[in-house]
Amino acid sequence: MRGVTDEVSGAGARMHDLVRRMYPICRSITGSGVRQTLDIIGEHLPLQRVEVPSGTQAHDWTVSDEWNVADAYIADKDGRRLVDFREHNLHLVGYSVPVRATMTLAELRPHLHTHEAHPDWIPYRTTYYHRDWGFCLSQRQLDALGEGPFEVVVDTTLQPGSLSYAELLVPGEVEDELLLSAHICHPSMANDNLSGIAVSVELAQALLRRQDRRLSYRFLFSPGTIGSIVWLSEHAVGLPNIRHGLVLTGLGGPGPLVYKRTRHGRRPIDRAAAHVVSRLDGDVRDYSPYGYDERQFNAIGFDLPVGRLSRTPHGEYPEYHTSADDLDFVRAEQLADSLGALLRILEAVEHDAVYRNLSPYGEPQLGRRKLYPTMGGRAASDEVMAMLWTLAYSDGSTSLLDIAERGEVDFTQLRAAATKLADADLLERVEL
Ligand code: ZN
Repeated sequence: MRGVTDEVSGAGARMHDLVRRMYPICRSITGSGVRQTLDIIGEHLPLQRVEVPSGTQAHDWTVSDEWNVADAYIADKDGRRLVDFREHNLHLVGYSVPVRATMTLAELRPHLHTHEAHPDWIPYRTTYYHRDWGFCLSQRQLDALGEGPFEVVVDTTLQPGSLSYAELLVPGEVEDELLLSAHICHPSMANDNLSGIAVSVELAQALLRRQDRRLSYRFLFSPGTIGSIVWLSEHAVGLPNIRHGLVLTGLGGPGPLVYKRTRHGRRPIDRAAAHVVSRLDGDVRDYSPYGYDERQFNAIGFDLPVGRLSRTPHGEYPEYHTSADDLDFVRAEQLADSLGALLRILEAVEHDAVYRNLSPYGEPQLGRRKLYPTMGGRAASDEVMAMLWTLAYSDGSTSLLDIAERGEVDFTQLRAAATKLADADLLERVEL
């Protein structure tokens, strides 16, 4: 297998390019922007696309009417656009119903939303499940509006159509699946949700190139909440194959990696992710019933072991859900760093194994087998230490991840050490 470093080199720039390409599109939980986004993802991956008609029942939810935007603006009496959807799609509240009216500032004001702490930023607002309309603008734009009257146009359609999602199964030797899910319903924001899409695409391509996949990998690109609930309701039969999972989001911003555990908290994905993320000075947190689609996957009725990987999570960075979550906020190096961590987590889930030390009566003589530096006296290298840890704990029931959890050595190094020691007949693999 190619090393993690090979797989990540060049990936940061590719992922940032993909984020840049998807950034201008106005996405929502339904509509043409979602389809355009899936078209772009589909240029990179052989996706299976699904359209679910409005009105479809999915557990406690119903697929809403489809929303599309032709135009939206607030103009002065001379027709000059003061707030313009075509300049930034965050200017229009998501799922706004159509409006065509002349209004004073006093009439318009209840429909205007600004960001209190940052007068230059446009906030992100939606009204999916309550029919309403509104504009988001910077405080500076609001201060400069004047008293009106204004021409207010929201040229949208909200009518029966469908919800779009896509998935990709990358088959492995076994039917056990690892689910990777990214939401695709946010308009022009780079970290929330384009970073998750870009990392998923790059990861799927890396997995498709591999010849030695043991696990099967299922990628899901769906609108938040309603999309994952619809997908879960349509996949009841296949759900038992899902043995591990991760929601991928917010992977391009600054700040350390953050892993959010599954509801159970001690599944293999939790152990692998906690090991990798803490070795990279990231943060590991317990499950909570708030956040992204991990809420749906972990719900009692499904009980899927799906954690969440991000960098600084939603709500904890000021740019979150604003126009400042832009192409400068997300950086190629941060995307690449996240992908590297993700590949290491998947390696630990896929390749955890138990070995038995075949030379357990004292330390075997590694030097004789050319596994130990011939010059004594120097401190042991990481490579040697990984072999010593593997030999010390491989009693036929302790796995490499168990050893990695002690925190002294990376799983990747333990795996390499185990392979070398097995090649030297010092270890044998135990099939459990
Ligand atoms: Zn969001």
